[in-house]
Amino acid sequence: MGKKMDLNEILRKNLRTYSAYEPGEQPSEEGWLKLNTNENPYPPIPEILNDIKNAVNEKIRLYPDPTSFELRKEILNVLLRDKDTLTNRNSVFIGNGSDEIFDVIFKTFIDPGDEVVIFYPSYGFYKTIASLYNAKITEIRLTDDFSIPDSTFTAKGKLMFVNSPNNPNGKSYGNATILKLCGSFPGIVVVDEAYADFSRQTCLSLLKKAKNLIINRSFSKSFSLASLRIGYALADSEIIKELNRVKLPYNTNYIAQVAAISSIKHRDKIFERNKKIIEERVRLTEELNKFNGISVLPSDANFIFVKFEDKTKTLKFVWDLKEFKILVRHFSKPGLYHYIRVTVGTKEDNNKFLATFAKIASKYL
Ligand code: PMP
Repeated sequence: MGKKMDLNEILRKNLRTYSAYEPGEQPSEEGWLKLNTNENPYPPIPEILNDIKNAVNEKIRLYPDPTSFELRKEILNVLLRDKDTLTNRNSVFIGNGSDEIFDVIFKTFIDPGDEVVIFYPSYGFYKTIASLYNAKITEIRLTDDFSIPDSTFTAKGKLMFVNSPNNPNGKSYGNATILKLCGSFPGIVVVDEAYADFSRQTCLSLLKKAKNLIINRSFSKSFSLASLRIGYALADSEIIKELNRVKLPYNTNYIAQVAAISSIKHRDKIFERNKKIIEERVRLTEELNKFNGISVLPSDANFIFVKFEDKTKTLKFVWDLKEFKILVRHFSKPGLYHYIRVTVGTKEDNNKFLATFAKIASKYL
């Protein structure tokens, strides 16, 4: 280090007050039941693991395809073939997980001070990345039942982030609402559909009507590839062209591209298996609703949002579950103290969770 260098002096000004995103806990030892980060409880099927293993070959010597040409082709021609959406390969962007795509969107459109609209509660990363780029954040509070309030339709800004189904409340927002937002908002509406494969809804068909819509999707959740970091965005090719100019040259790796292509090939098996998660979501909801003082919101995602009538009990459950090596997510934020978010696991995972929950409930409820 230079003798006179003061790190604080050379740090970007807004980093002095910036708080980084806090990811859910990822314990390194075995034996934890992880219901805290909405991962898929099922590993990739053996056929996909095999394709991944075969991809670990001499080709890793080479840089990956910077345009992810094959993957973009498979997404449009196979994965989204029946979704009544865009068909032009230049309308797909491939990123290192959805999170990188949000970063590229900010890098492409946001100068310091530009306005960005986000909802509360919603996926916390939008606010983190917006403050990283020094955007002016307009945070709109969802209504008591987590709907989008009417005031949103007069909101102004360069970017708006809608999360459907929403993390953490599990609610999907209908296409009529999203289309109306695209009509009223002067900038780009980004709809984050990271969990849409667990829902019957998607706004993919709106891309044909709304030129200012970006839809973000992920291979992390429904396709069990969270660790490989791969996701995609769909939008008008003019928007995608700009994102491609801004992204790092080799933003996704060859093995992740192979895994995503293989997952698309085996999508029927994957979606069939994901039906178990949806069935378990219903069962978990019904079982938890039987407890006094507990209510579970309807969810369209692979997690449920569980409300405790008495908010002083919430953290007691979180800590006691942790004693039994079960992790769930709690947000120490206004309006959210009453809730825990629980990822839907396998039937065995959920049985373990329910039995432990009942044990703790006999103490506190
Ligand atoms: N969007 C939402 C709503 C999420 O909950 C998450 C994961 N926590 C992401 C995006 C990030 O997904 P990816 O793994 O594709 O970066």
